[in-house]
Amino acid sequence: MSQFTCSSCAKVYPATAPIWQCDCGGLLDFHFKAEFPLDLIKQRQHDMWRYREAIPLLHDRNKISFQEGYTPLLEMQFEGRQLWVKQDQTFPTGSYKDRGASVLISLLRENEITEILEDSSGNAGAAIAAYAAKAGIKSHIYAPHSNSSGKLTQIKAYGAQLHSIQGSREDVAKAAYKAAHHIFYASHVWHPFFFQGTKTFAYEMCEQMGWQAPDVCLLPAGNGSLLIGAYIGFKDLLEAGIISKIPRFIAVQAENCNPLYKAWANGLDDILVESMQPTMAEGIAAATPKRARQILRIIRETHGEIWQVEESEIKRVTLHLMKKGFFVEPTSAVVFAAALRKDVGFFHTHKVGTLFTGNALKVASLIQSWMD
Ligand SMILES: *Cc1c(COP(=O)(O)O)cnc(C)c1O
Ligand SMILES: [Zn+2]
Repeated sequence: MSQFTCSSCAKVYPATAPIWQCDCGGLLDFHFKAEFPLDLIKQRQHDMWRYREAIPLLHDRNKISFQEGYTPLLEMQFEGRQLWVKQDQTFPTGSYKDRGASVLISLLRENEITEILEDSSGNAGAAIAAYAAKAGIKSHIYAPHSNSSGKLTQIKAYGAQLHSIQGSREDVAKAAYKAAHHIFYASHVWHPFFFQGTKTFAYEMCEQMGWQAPDVCLLPAGNGSLLIGAYIGFKDLLEAGIISKIPRFIAVQAENCNPLYKAWANGLDDILVESMQPTMAEGIAAATPKRARQILRIIRETHGEIWQVEESEIKRVTLHLMKKGFFVEPTSAVVFAAALRKDVGFFHTHKVGTLFTGNALKVASLIQSWMD
């Protein structure tokens, strides 16, 4: 049975309830039995909606899509490391967040919601703004004033109302949470349907590997919108009997903003609330990720690990990727910086799957400043 359940008090809500949070204030999860009719899937067009029976939308007429997804899986040699890399920087708004936005906004249209808000360091806001524009839904996006101006411009250009907030990413989240008293919160952190979209990353990777999972999945992590989605995706495939194992999840954080890394390194099952430094990996600059417990549980359950990389490494590897023709943002480079660690032996014996999360065109002014 499809339903929402609260991760704090276990209360259950029907799948049709227009909600993003439990009455008790807890985070919701969504339970749904995904099905994979492989013969049908194979005949469909190459986008993320080819897994239609695995996406919990009732009516096709509510689907909001640019025929996005099924991004190329590139087999890449990077400094002697072999990696399978999904090109998710090629999405319509420039990041994998379109996966989540397409499914979440489709659901909100199904729920007849006409006005929404979201807070984001930029890419999630841009994705929500674009899909809301296509759906005819009015959107308000809260973002840090200090963020890359390319992302803020993009949000405004889609017709969203931009609320640019002075302060940290956490201050932005607080302002959005307050406004969510009277406008529906289409949050990529709170609303579990965002993961029902980002999970298609795992479906596509497995299909492109001949319906097999990689051994290791190497992902950047801040709030976990990608990591949690990818885990749900692999789990759906495992439960449907299509793959035989879930990969080991290795999450990578920027050392300047590393609450998950610290919790992991200290054997904790939740983060400590501490102030963090700014990082050029702005896509994962989350000092207090709401779903930290869930992320840490996934890492433990998959026998994974959490790593961190320094700012200087992120910058060097971003430029290095660019020299190879990949114009991807510093947040995308964190996993490649991590892959270069000397003590990592599994590249010879394991298939490692990862992705480019975002296009650097939005942060071109930062890249320009490095070259002046
Ligand atoms: C959102 C995002 C990520 C992953 O961030 P989470 O906070 O874990 O959801 C990674 N790279 C880019 C470019 C992003 O926009
Ligand atoms: Zn609850």
